[in-house]
Amino acid sequence: MINFFSYTYASFVKILLFNTHMKSNKSILKLFCFSFCCCFSNFNSFSQNKLKLAVDTITTSNDNIILYDDKSWEYLPVVKRKNYLKAFADTSSIFTKNWKNSTFAYKDKFPPDSVLITYLDDQDKYVIPVIDRINSGFKLRNGTFHKGLDIHLTRTTPVKAAFNGKVRYARFNTGGYGNLVIIRHFNGLETYYAHLSRLDVKEDQLVQAGKVIGLGGNTGVKWSGPHLHFEVRYHDFAFDPEKIFSIKDSVLLGDKILLKKADFHSVIAASRKYHRIKSGETLSYLAVRYNTTVSKILKINPKLNINSIIGIGMKIRVR
Ligand SMILES: [Zn+2]
Repeated sequence: MINFFSYTYASFVKILLFNTHMKSNKSILKLFCFSFCCCFSNFNSFSQNKLKLAVDTITTSNDNIILYDDKSWEYLPVVKRKNYLKAFADTSSIFTKNWKNSTFAYKDKFPPDSVLITYLDDQDKYVIPVIDRINSGFKLRNGTFHKGLDIHLTRTTPVKAAFNGKVRYARFNTGGYGNLVIIRHFNGLETYYAHLSRLDVKEDQLVQAGKVIGLGGNTGVKWSGPHLHFEVRYHDFAFDPEKIFSIKDSVLLGDKILLKKADFHSVIAASRKYHRIKSGETLSYLAVRYNTTVSKILKINPKLNINSIIGIGMKIRVR
């Protein structure tokens, strides 16, 4: 009889330990049922003098396989990853704060001093959106900063989500992106997929890494052929996607990245514009010339006010 209790108890503890990895009420219900069945089967086994103890589990993508000490095994379906991701996405502040169906969702004025992004955990994985040559990199181009990578493709090339996440934006963008998908990921980053010929996802849809979100195209661009304009942003601040992926080698560079202010600076520096004052020029003149307003110029030049004397040779920020 002591044997019976010890085996039953051991099975129960083992199953409890195993189920600490499960993450939903459904799993706990399954745990209870399974524990009960296990105890019951142990009782039957005891009565037949064939005791069976769960000794290990093997986790596959959708199931767990339980191994018993008599070398038998059985499947135990666990809650699917999709359900876990949904439960997380429904409650995490990553998906509830600053969640807007517009191109940029955050109001941060400056990038963070540093932020550690961990791409992979046991519920995450990555996929390179399109594996092809890079036509244009993350760099200053024709006076403006190109905030992503242009990856060559055709109109039939499927474009895939880089990480698990939730679609924040999936529509035609008149600002030059064309058909654009923006996905916010569990790791806190956002990825932008522009110029698509077809959109295969909807806003607020949960997607797993590798999900086809649309087909390649050149919507929103006037002069070039099909390509994927791919951006990676943290709180709307773009940084070089090649700090994360090697598109050429089709690999993720490490399992985390420490982003620093400098990683965002090239874009910020390129977006600023200065003007050297010449004879007869005023703030009103600058406002008209650079399509802005005097109050906006004053705002980005803290040392100036409306009564400041604007002298020849002064350097004034206009953008
Ligand atoms: Zn581009």
